Amino acid sequence: MQLLVASNNPKKLAELEKILGEAGINGVELLALGDVASYPEPIEDGRTFADNALIKARAGVAATGIATIADDSGLAVTELNGMPGVLSARWSGRHGDDAANNELLLAQMHDVPDERRAAAFVSVCALVTPDGEEHIAEGRWPGTLLRAPQGANGFGYDPLFMPAGQDHSAAEMEPAQKNAVSHRGRALAQLTEVIKGLAATQA
Ligand code: IMP
Repeated sequence: MQLLVASNNPKKLAELEKILGEAGINGVELLALGDVASYPEPIEDGRTFADNALIKARAGVAATGIATIADDSGLAVTELNGMPGVLSARWSGRHGDDAANNELLLAQMHDVPDERRAAAFVSVCALVTPDGEEHIAEGRWPGTLLRAPQGANGFGYDPLFMPAGQDHSAAEMEPAQKNAVSHRGRALAQLTEVIKGLAATQA
């Protein structure tokens, strides 16, 4: 069976490939957006990660007729009622400006004491089939928000995130080490059984 991974980030496809391989799932051909005829990117105007993941997955199925998996992710800070949340990439007002996003978040949280700095990276993956079957899985990676950037690896809010029970930030982890425990992997892993079932019915 073919499965479109509706993401512009090639790392997400590689991660799913690895997870399916480890789960011993064969017969699934993963397609990137570059492998299908281009279609307009939908506007991510959902209020939740699940809304946005579904918007992206439904758009993929509608444009290609191929079962599509999409994810939406971000940092949820408890003290900010779960924000930046779905606005993580554009928190400072400029999409994808990691430095500005981090600076604004640190300033907002400046006076918040250590015991109220809980945060979690969240990823919601949606899988939609041409028959209209929809599956959703959420992965969370809990931790706390640091007071200054720490580490040079990763992207986004990684330098500000101290995973629970660790003494190094997400930006001080090796990529493989981070992928093994992160929110995205945890969400994708929950969909392996669904993908296995779909592959079996279409074999
Ligand atoms: P998207 O789901 O790939 O669009 O990511 C949304 C935004 O959430 C990113 O631009 C980052 O700001 C943040 N984010 C999501 N996952 C991570 C992560 O693993 N590390 C750091 N930031 C992340």
